[in-house]
Amino acid sequence: MDRRNFLKDSALAFIAAHLGGLGLFAKDSSSVNTSEVFSGDDSCVVPGPLKIRFLGTGAAGWTEKWFGNYHRNHSSILIDDHLLIDFNAMAASMIPEGIHPKTIFYTHSHVDHFNAKDALELGIERVFLSNTLMAQATSEFEKAAAETGLKMPQIIGLNTLRPYRVDGITFKPLPANHGTNIPGEQALIYLLEKGSARDLYATDTGVIPAVGAQYAGFDKHCKVHFPLTGLIIESTMGMDHDEDFRMFTHSSTALVLRTARMLQHYGLLTLKEDEHVYLTHLSRTLNPTPEELEKNPLPEPLFTAYDGLEVIFD
Ligand SMILES: [Zn+2]
Ligand SMILES: [Zn+2]
Repeated sequence: MDRRNFLKDSALAFIAAHLGGLGLFAKDSSSVNTSEVFSGDDSCVVPGPLKIRFLGTGAAGWTEKWFGNYHRNHSSILIDDHLLIDFNAMAASMIPEGIHPKTIFYTHSHVDHFNAKDALELGIERVFLSNTLMAQATSEFEKAAAETGLKMPQIIGLNTLRPYRVDGITFKPLPANHGTNIPGEQALIYLLEKGSARDLYATDTGVIPAVGAQYAGFDKHCKVHFPLTGLIIESTMGMDHDEDFRMFTHSSTALVLRTARMLQHYGLLTLKEDEHVYLTHLSRTLNPTPEELEKNPLPEPLFTAYDGLEVIFD
């Protein structure tokens, strides 16, 4: 490819990526299968707001057997009362009565996020996950279906940086900085867009990788920006454990605070009054208890999410 064509293609790719940032989908001449971008009537744009209910806000160290002063389920969220990001049975009690989600988007294969049997028993009919997890996940769902006698769900592979719109909400899978035990697996974080809401749900990840920030339009290096209007981010290691060995794969509260303040400083995260950056995926041993938080609240804009918390983003 000569330099002029290279520059032209680069410019087109940049524009396409940032049209994506506006919730528009560019047709391009690459091998993208548009059926992977749109499904059924899901191409309809639905106005906001976006409702998120935290079903769990804990990291893997929390178990059913933990009988301490307080408890956190493994991290997962319910979006607009019908779509899940991650799920295992620990969080089932946090789903409001009469709500029956049929779709899960998974971030990665770790057991605190992914459990095929629990998903089938919840009545899940459709799952989205990284293409790099397809083989392993399919095998686990087949095993769970055989064991329970329940029907296999539809399993849809996602490519990073390729948006998928479901029920009026655009899911943009961005690469996470997170290692798993499955060779080649690329863990995901999700940018969620609905109406004017642009919320990043970032667990599990050691800060926000640059490629996703650039694609989603909140990297200051890029000339065109599309600020986030909400941020939910993991803080596995708490405030006083910034030098913990998990730093290659998880975030600390201090790191999240610097990230949030930098984004706000450059206008890349626009929070309205009374809105916060929500911390989730809190480890049992490295984060303060509710009593400790009451005595020493986290600095603004941070807010420690809790199981059952509902937030409306618009
Ligand atoms: Zn986790
Ligand atoms: Zn993990």
